[in-house]
Amino acid sequence: MTTSPIAVSLSKVSRVFGAVTALGEVDLDIRAGEFFAMLGPSGSGKTTCLRLVAGFEQPSTGRIAIFGEDVTGVPPYRRQVNTVFQDYALFPHLDVAANVAYPLMIGKVGKAERLSAAEAALEKVRLGGYGRRRPGELSGGQRQRVALARAIVARPKVLLLDEPLGALDLKLRENMQEELRELQRSLGITFVFVTHDQGEALSMADRVAVFSQGRIEQIGTPEEIYARPKNRFVADFVGSSNILPPDLVGELTGERRWASLRPEAICLVSPEGADPRLVGRLLTKSYLGASVRLRLDLGGLHLHAVRPAGETLPATENVALAFDRRALHLMEREA
Ligand code: ATP
Repeated sequence: MTTSPIAVSLSKVSRVFGAVTALGEVDLDIRAGEFFAMLGPSGSGKTTCLRLVAGFEQPSTGRIAIFGEDVTGVPPYRRQVNTVFQDYALFPHLDVAANVAYPLMIGKVGKAERLSAAEAALEKVRLGGYGRRRPGELSGGQRQRVALARAIVARPKVLLLDEPLGALDLKLRENMQEELRELQRSLGITFVFVTHDQGEALSMADRVAVFSQGRIEQIGTPEEIYARPKNRFVADFVGSSNILPPDLVGELTGERRWASLRPEAICLVSPEGADPRLVGRLLTKSYLGASVRLRLDLGGLHLHAVRPAGETLPATENVALAFDRRALHLMEREA
């Protein structure tokens, strides 16, 4: 098996603003051709991390390399990266073709060449023929694609995207998730994007780094992050997992650890003859179309389960939980 070279490497990188540590000693390797998500709540340091890779910020400590070249201290325009900002930052007085060709004009590429490169980039984002319009004559989704075309026109090796879909409505966002993914595959360049939306990170990325308070809590594939969260923060932030306390987990498994249990792993059965520790009450049922979401009370611990809509549930209010013990994911010990 061949492994891809490392596109972006951060070694012990930190960024401090006065008394605030926005990012504390982060180590991170992003492979060439990866679609990589930086996921975390507001203020967790993901944008700072992206801006450090872009070169808009300089690290307080540590080194950053892009394709093996140390770029610590190198200004943004001398790095082989480009950034798509959330507000797109298009020039309203220039037409779409001139907006897209702008980085090539700055790079002193001749007019005919840059206009044909701009048209090719617009084709890539499915906006062929829109070159003569002004940004004000486009929809939000189209403006987003113009910003993408401008970012790829100079063929960066790494494309950085700061909440790229944040300004779009839900439907458009879902469509654009697929388009971005296809665009990344067809270009074959490394995409690194920042988002606070776990659904977006899980559905689009090859790997996800989960940020909290300036640290990376876990790096892994969407499946790893979702099914095997390292700690309570990741389990809580990345999905709708149930978190079981050490006392109960200790009784069930013999190990006193926090554990996560995905709602789809829980079945409801009749309480007769069931393990008394797993007998509780069904509080509510919500129909979600293809599935039913159930809220349960297990001796004061509130859990939820998701079952297929057609499944027969126990008729009583008292129910017992049944799950394969292997579905119980034990998390790291906490200090
Ligand atoms: P959001 O999703 O809200 O953009 P984020 O995870 O991207 O959040 P950052 O923008 O990286 O978080 O900010 C991390 C921390 O660093 C925050 O506490 C923020 O207030 C602080 N911070 C960021 N930039 C600066 C700055 N230029 N000066 C002072 N503090 C800053």
